[in-house]
Amino acid sequence: MRPLDLTEKDPSKKITIYFEGRPYEAYEGEKLPVAMLASGVYWLTTSTEGRHRGAFTFGPVPVTVNGVKNVDGRKLKLKNGLRIERQRYDEFQEQVEIDEGKPVIRYVVDVAVIGAGPAGLGVVEEIGGKLTVALIEEKGWLGGDMWLKGVDQEGFGNPRRAIERLSSFPDGVRVFLGTTALGVFDKGEYFLVPAVKEDQLIEFMAKRVVLATGAVDSIMLFENNDYPGVFRRSDALEVINVWGVAPGRKVAVVGAFPEEITQELDRWGIEYVVVPNPKRVEGNDRVERLIDGNGNVYEVDAVIVADGRIPDINPVTQVGGRLHFRHGYYIPILDAEHRIRKGIYVAGSAVSIKPHYANFLEGKLVGAYILREFGLEAEPCLYEEKLKEYEPVARPIPKLPLDGFNGEDVQICGCGVTLGKVDEVVKSGITDLQIIKRLTHLAMGFCQGRFCLFNGALLVSQRSGTPMGELDIPVARPPLKNVKMKVVAGR
Ligand code: ATP
Repeated sequence: MRPLDLTEKDPSKKITIYFEGRPYEAYEGEKLPVAMLASGVYWLTTSTEGRHRGAFTFGPVPVTVNGVKNVDGRKLKLKNGLRIERQRYDEFQEQVEIDEGKPVIRYVVDVAVIGAGPAGLGVVEEIGGKLTVALIEEKGWLGGDMWLKGVDQEGFGNPRRAIERLSSFPDGVRVFLGTTALGVFDKGEYFLVPAVKEDQLIEFMAKRVVLATGAVDSIMLFENNDYPGVFRRSDALEVINVWGVAPGRKVAVVGAFPEEITQELDRWGIEYVVVPNPKRVEGNDRVERLIDGNGNVYEVDAVIVADGRIPDINPVTQVGGRLHFRHGYYIPILDAEHRIRKGIYVAGSAVSIKPHYANFLEGKLVGAYILREFGLEAEPCLYEEKLKEYEPVARPIPKLPLDGFNGEDVQICGCGVTLGKVDEVVKSGITDLQIIKRLTHLAMGFCQGRFCLFNGALLVSQRSGTPMGELDIPVARPPLKNVKMKVVAGR
């Protein structure tokens, strides 16, 4: 087994890949960052500013594969003999690949459900067999965040078995895995949901749309928070439970919700220490130690950030939904039937952070409202009652020790936007996030603000004294996720 493998892998899938000219053992279909992690290699790419980056804090991970630049190494599935080199973010292909693109595929359905986590699966369980449904999921699996978990979940028991039970769909439900919805647009009586699967553009025409798009992990601010070996909670869960690889031999868990990962580390016997107040990570091309705000030094080879999740507000604002600030994060303003406007519903963690089972029930609730709109029998009040048992998780609003940090070493956003750069603009008296966005490029890069905008708002709020709920949050523009120009160019 490789140094960080937790499980035996299928020997018939064993392959050799070459990274920076050196051979490494890998398994067919494994993702590049996982294979490299298993062999103890964390540094995969280099940012525009020359910072060494791994694959588990900020994405994407541009690498050169068999001579072709700008391949997203974060998602690269390995094949025997691939030759991969590190690349800087700002090195581009000398010759741009141009082709005609493929003809668009179009589907017409009653309901398009975006996201197949517990909430999306709840919607489909309620309406499947009665209405035609397209279930659109960008990941390669059903079950969203719950699929990453190994420990039993309240209301569901074993997460994998629960998801498998929910994954047999009646006629009239089509599932599109590995398919990313790029936005929602009005089209007469219908909504148009353009989506992309590899290089194929698919257009869904739907009478109703459900945003079951979930939440994202909060990015925690400390010095060198982008070092190779710093993991977001969800990435750590994925490497452990999906790929059977440990994030490190001795791990520091930081953030306000350590139990979201420590239960899983206990299960696998991975050694860890909980550090509530990280200040700085240090090491040579990878995490070697963590220093906290009291000056304590922890010798660790990985840091996992478990600082809670916040709803992904981009799909909501892109389609015209408004937000308010509740429980320590921004959430959509909904009408009595869980709609941000006529025809567009929201369910699950996209509404508020709560246990998986509550998100599933909320999916069923939205499904029941939709059935009623189509004149079919449904009892939303049943789910409304059950949901009253679940209070949304309150996330403490972090207090940034702004003047205690070296702001140039704290990455607020993976696209080379440091806390120092944003703070300089805010300290000069500019507190309008729209202007800060234009001046610093905060929320204008790969993540489109999903990960970085909240921390930008936090900084402005803390420096200006303006409550988070009174800030003007910029709306997301389509496409919601990165897409190659050639895929959409023909439209
Ligand atoms: P819980 O948070 O309890 O797990 P949930 O269903 O509300 O429940 P997630 O589990 O995070 O939330 O599931 C949301 C799913 O939505 C994820 O699997 C994510 O990949 C998917 N998703 C998010 N945005 C898009 C998009 N633009 N296109 C397709 N799928 C998306």
